[in-house]
Amino acid sequence: MQPGEFQKFMEDQGLQVKQKIAYGNIQGYPVLIYNKWGNRVLVSFFLEGVAWSEIREKMVSYAKTYKIKVYYEDNQVVWSIHITSKESYRFSEILDGVVRIFKRKKIKSPHTCVICKEEPKADSFAVLQGANRPVHRSCLQKMLEQAREDMQSGSYLLGILGGILGCIFGCMPCALSLLLAKKTFCVLFLCIPPGVYAGCKWCKGKMNQFVILLSVLFSFASVYILEFPLRIQYNMELNQFPHTPYYYWTVIRLLVTNPETWYTITQSVSVNVLFVLLGILINWEIISHTSIEAERNIVEVINTENSRRF
Ligand SMILES: [Zn+2]
Repeated sequence: MQPGEFQKFMEDQGLQVKQKIAYGNIQGYPVLIYNKWGNRVLVSFFLEGVAWSEIREKMVSYAKTYKIKVYYEDNQVVWSIHITSKESYRFSEILDGVVRIFKRKKIKSPHTCVICKEEPKADSFAVLQGANRPVHRSCLQKMLEQAREDMQSGSYLLGILGGILGCIFGCMPCALSLLLAKKTFCVLFLCIPPGVYAGCKWCKGKMNQFVILLSVLFSFASVYILEFPLRIQYNMELNQFPHTPYYYWTVIRLLVTNPETWYTITQSVSVNVLFVLLGILINWEIISHTSIEAERNIVEVINTENSRRF
């Protein structure tokens, strides 16, 4: 369905519409409808504690009368319906029939707040995690307040410290592989960006764009961090220095201050840089999750709040 058609069609059904989704309730049962490609819509009824086996037979035989597919997934009874903008009556007839089966099978409208799971009964529904679920309005507000607090909290210094710790942990699989197999594997670099991110979060670092920057920078720096101990070891053995702190310090000082060291390391780690880049891209969803994004997501959920009344 075209976006304009979808909007009018669903509003006529008494549902609220937001881009590709429509939501609300059918006689008190929360529903979420996705506008898929062509004329296909996915209608999902969120239920709680329901044994699908109890209603499956009725649902499937009812679906057959309309030649429709129905299945149960993630606590939702999902109907995949082909519908044109002129079939408003047929659509509401199908949905009413579904609700009739719920009632006949004594399936109650869900009422446990999915955020706090506590009494009293939820006073609203909201679209979160792909379903129109029961919630307390106050719980949504609390989540928003918490997210705004998180945006303000956190420290840059602690973030850097956490990032360093996380980077060291993230580098361990690579370091072990270098030590044991004398080479690194692409897949091991996947641990580094989330390691930095987790370290920053764990140490209560600033979780805004700073954490993304930190994860990217430290991941690239890790290539040098990994290579450096090998250079130290190589030079110690080459010069047959005794393993004392003084000689280690001398070698480190000479290596760090010699531009050639950095040049040769850069040359030899070019493949690892590509691995790191791949690791960053694959983990992008994790490392780009900031407190700003979290706050934006909660505001979006609040915007889909719809009344339990009908
Ligand atoms: Zn609640």
